[in-house]
Amino acid sequence: MPAYSDLVGPANLIWFILGLVSGSFVCEVADRLPVHENFITGRSKCDGCGKTLSWYELVPIVSFCLQHGRCRSCGEKISPRYPIIEFINGALYFCVISVYGFSIETVLISLLSSALLGLSLIDEKTHEIPVGFNIFILVLGLIRLFTDLANWPLYVIGFFAVSLPLYLLLLLSKGKAIGGGDIKLMAAAGLLLGWKNALLSFILACILGSVIHLLRMKLSHASRTLALGPYLAAGLYISSLFGPSLISAYLAFLTR
Ligand SMILES: [Zn+2]
Repeated sequence: MPAYSDLVGPANLIWFILGLVSGSFVCEVADRLPVHENFITGRSKCDGCGKTLSWYELVPIVSFCLQHGRCRSCGEKISPRYPIIEFINGALYFCVISVYGFSIETVLISLLSSALLGLSLIDEKTHEIPVGFNIFILVLGLIRLFTDLANWPLYVIGFFAVSLPLYLLLLLSKGKAIGGGDIKLMAAAGLLLGWKNALLSFILACILGSVIHLLRMKLSHASRTLALGPYLAAGLYISSLFGPSLISAYLAFLTR
């Protein structure tokens, strides 16, 4: 683990702020993609009065606090969802740079974490992972492969390690047991993180999914159908940061 003094360095702070900024892009994508709105050139508007927001009303978290969570023209309440997602994305980036320092891993895993956050928000709502997210993660995986060619079997096996068994499950269950988007996600992320982390992610996702979903069914009467995406995303994020240490701790426990 990094020392405390390493955690508060300027690089970590800058990366956290970058995470806040890209977090607001994650919000845009998560809101607009499911309704087929343009999230690249379309400008942000107030949901109440429809006024196009200017740049100083879009500074992550700061604008929300300065405007007391309301639109400047009509006074309509702005959903706290935006600053919350921005903050989560910033925190994800902060953890990544705290583990990997200033490196290519930090760039790749941070971009992965934004994609995971975005696809989780959408999957939770629509029970579908838009294919664009999986293509984006696949591109990150290809960059990883070509920047670490000496270890290519790790990544190539990673592509199939979880996705192939899941694909067989899909065929056997005639498309009922699992969604195609989940399989593509595990293929693309497996290429990026390698087969050990891919397997670990899937195990973590199953554990988190069963515990949290059972609790949600009990407490808030959530529907029985479970959106697997957010749990896969959580498993992938945890193993992308702590995979090697978790695996060696587990192996050490087994061979005690
Ligand atoms: Zn307004």
